[in-house]
Amino acid sequence: MASLGIPSNTIEVLQKYNFNFQKKFGQNFLIEPRVLERIIGAAEITKDDMALEIGPGIGTMTQYLCEQARKVVAVEIDQNLIPILEDTLKEYDNITIINQDILKLDLMELVTRENEGKPVKVVANLPYYITTPIVMGLLEKHVPIASITIMVQKEVADRMQTGPGSKDYGALSLAVQYYAKPEIVANVPPNCFIPRPKVGSAVIRLSLYEKPPVEVKDESMMFRFIRASFNQRRKTLQNGISNDPTLPYGKEDVKEALLAMGKSETVRGETFTLEDFASFTNFLLK
Ligand code: SAM
Repeated sequence: MASLGIPSNTIEVLQKYNFNFQKKFGQNFLIEPRVLERIIGAAEITKDDMALEIGPGIGTMTQYLCEQARKVVAVEIDQNLIPILEDTLKEYDNITIINQDILKLDLMELVTRENEGKPVKVVANLPYYITTPIVMGLLEKHVPIASITIMVQKEVADRMQTGPGSKDYGALSLAVQYYAKPEIVANVPPNCFIPRPKVGSAVIRLSLYEKPPVEVKDESMMFRFIRASFNQRRKTLQNGISNDPTLPYGKEDVKEALLAMGKSETVRGETFTLEDFASFTNFLLK
């Protein structure tokens, strides 16, 4: 395998094709083989697996995935990268490249078609400008996925993994932790990419649950409560929810549910665990 992860090989490919980085697509290509090996190791891809790669760039990580997986599907938005990928991946017959915006793709249909609906392993060095919509799209649409191993901005990885009491705790933490067990695998400094991003990065692995860790009567209502209580940080949960014009619950309803849970009516959303939000929802919808 011609490892593109070595800086000189990446530069050679970029020069050969006179490639211009597009900032709007969040293009920061990995040039550190040890980081690539960490990501591939954490993803635990075997010859039984289909790997779905989001944003293959010039195919650096894709080469590793093609070696490990039975099948790889890579979705890349930038059409200028397609001829490059066809070149760098020409020795593999287990790769399908799709020139599309990942946010516009019907992933359920893709996984059903390409992997008979069996869970796939998602691996990516994500474009940072759309990390949250990509991850939430994968989780909320219930696409069959076993795990998601991704490079993201360090701060976003922290938000996904943290719990109550941290300044990073919020709606993203709760949404991710409802669907998956998060684990930060590595911190990655800017000099592992070309061009260098302005922020630090981290690799995080999300192992999806077969069944969520809490039981809730109405999942989407719980997430509306979560968003309402974090929209108004430093406000009480009671105010956050009763001030939200889209939610049909007043102060008295919220107070009753909180007291039934044995909580104070002045409690703040940022102290609530996922279990608390689930039982709050169940009490309120009783
Ligand atoms: N995987 C490569 C690597 O590690 O070197 C490239 C990673 S780079 C951070 C992100 C990649 O995602 C770029 O190739 C970019 O063109 C692509 N991309 C950006 N927005 C996308 C979208 N909406 N759908 C699919 N790919 C996208």
